[in-house]
Amino acid sequence: MRRSHGSRRGDRRGQSPDARVAGTRTSWRTTGDGEFFCPACGGDRNYRRREGQRRYVLLGLPLMSRGRTGPVLECAACRGHFATDAQHHPTSRRLSAMLRDGVHAVALAVLAIDGAASAATRQAAVDAVRGAGFPGCSEEQLLALLAAFGGCDGFDGAGGGEPAAAVGIELHEALAPLAPHLARQGREGLLLAGARIALADGPYQEAERDVLGAAGVALNLPAADVGRLLTEAARTPS
Ligand SMILES: [Zn+2]
Repeated sequence: MRRSHGSRRGDRRGQSPDARVAGTRTSWRTTGDGEFFCPACGGDRNYRRREGQRRYVLLGLPLMSRGRTGPVLECAACRGHFATDAQHHPTSRRLSAMLRDGVHAVALAVLAIDGAASAATRQAAVDAVRGAGFPGCSEEQLLALLAAFGGCDGFDGAGGGEPAAAVGIELHEALAPLAPHLARQGREGLLLAGARIALADGPYQEAERDVLGAAGVALNLPAADVGRLLTEAARTPS
């Protein structure tokens, strides 16, 4: 049975009978493993990181080295080989977590800028965070996080100073790594989640527009589109 040849079976696949007599054979060794999103079979899969040694073989005897090949990532499911940069694409699981954290960061940022004063705003923020995948989120938790940001007192809508800068940095750190992996609709959805929280207590304040604008930049959305989306959200009753 051909499969009993183990690791050599892959190297013989597709070769002509002559190639079994004389040809190049690659022997692979595993140098690591992990989880990635397989671009071929389209899902979260385990991979083995493999490096190969190519040898010229005559009558089954390895004669001379033809150099190294790889490293590559080999999918545990489809056995496909991929360049190692495939591991930079987040797994579905990781992407869901990043998205959840993104909504969380947007909600906190709007809440912080708004001073967390209005009950309607606080409720809208809790709803957004729960809906994004933190079903156990409570208002107390959000307020505790806000306090950790530097205190709600600093976010009185003035829109300047260190607390606002800290919010901007948090927002950027949560959204910028996520943006390249989201379709436009997903990035707009994150912005609109923030807009709904900002609108919960009435029309946008200037500081709310500023923080939503910063979210738009981090999400790689053109400024004109951000303005249009915010205006449309304000027209649409929630
Ligand atoms: Zn695969």
